[in-house]
Amino acid sequence: MAIQIKTLEQLKVMRRAGLVVADIHQQIRSAIKPGMTTSALDAIAAACIKRNGATPNFLNYHGFPATICVSVNEEIVHGIPSNRVINDGDLVSIDCGAIVDGWHGDAAFSIGVGTVDPQDQKMMDVCEESMWRGIAAGHLGARLTDISFAIESYIDSQGKYGILQEYGGHGIGTEMHQEPHVLNFGKRGNGPELIVGMALAIEPMITRGTHKTKVLGDDWTVISQDKSRGAHFEHTFALLPDGKPFVLTAPDGGREKLGELGVAVSDQLA
Ligand code: MG
Ligand code: MG
Repeated sequence: MAIQIKTLEQLKVMRRAGLVVADIHQQIRSAIKPGMTTSALDAIAAACIKRNGATPNFLNYHGFPATICVSVNEEIVHGIPSNRVINDGDLVSIDCGAIVDGWHGDAAFSIGVGTVDPQDQKMMDVCEESMWRGIAAGHLGARLTDISFAIESYIDSQGKYGILQEYGGHGIGTEMHQEPHVLNFGKRGNGPELIVGMALAIEPMITRGTHKTKVLGDDWTVISQDKSRGAHFEHTFALLPDGKPFVLTAPDGGREKLGELGVAVSDQLA
């Protein structure tokens, strides 16, 4: 399957979807606290999508029964919202998406609730920074696995973390998951060359222990085999016609974080 190349007009619609996803993130970040259920977070996301006139893309995706994924502690990704109560000290990963006029956005974050274990916070910071390093490496003319290499080498430089191998980033556009698959590890210099009009979701997933996972009996929830806690960060970015990147799911387009890494962000969607 070929990689879908988007026009500037199509990326403008993807930006609208990305801003809906950013709005969901903001709503959940400000609402989450000990004592809430994970399904209460799902309801916040559903209301936010509706208010924005968008459509959920996770709901009914291969039968997924909710608007967002909520994964707690040793759950790393694809957790199903339920009546589970979030406790003080829990590490919660939220993954969500939205569709606007047929175009998708997809982004995720992890957050410590209440009293956060410093080692959990460090892992989250490492995971998030590795995502930005990956996006920064995804410049015009780079090869796909330059992103993978940037993510892995940053994580490895920060300590002993397990990098999930069965899951990774992906192309995104008129479907949530498109070619190419983006590994979060590997040598640089392989895979397709990155060109104008590509849109990729970059999403490192790491644990404080093993990279090995298993899927629970609900057929969705991915946990670490050694029950170590995990983190997950994700943004969707694109290469604009001016050759510069823009992070579609970040309110500022990634200007601040990519700027720190010496990467100029496109003005074409501003
Ligand atoms: Mg996602
Ligand atoms: Mg994704």
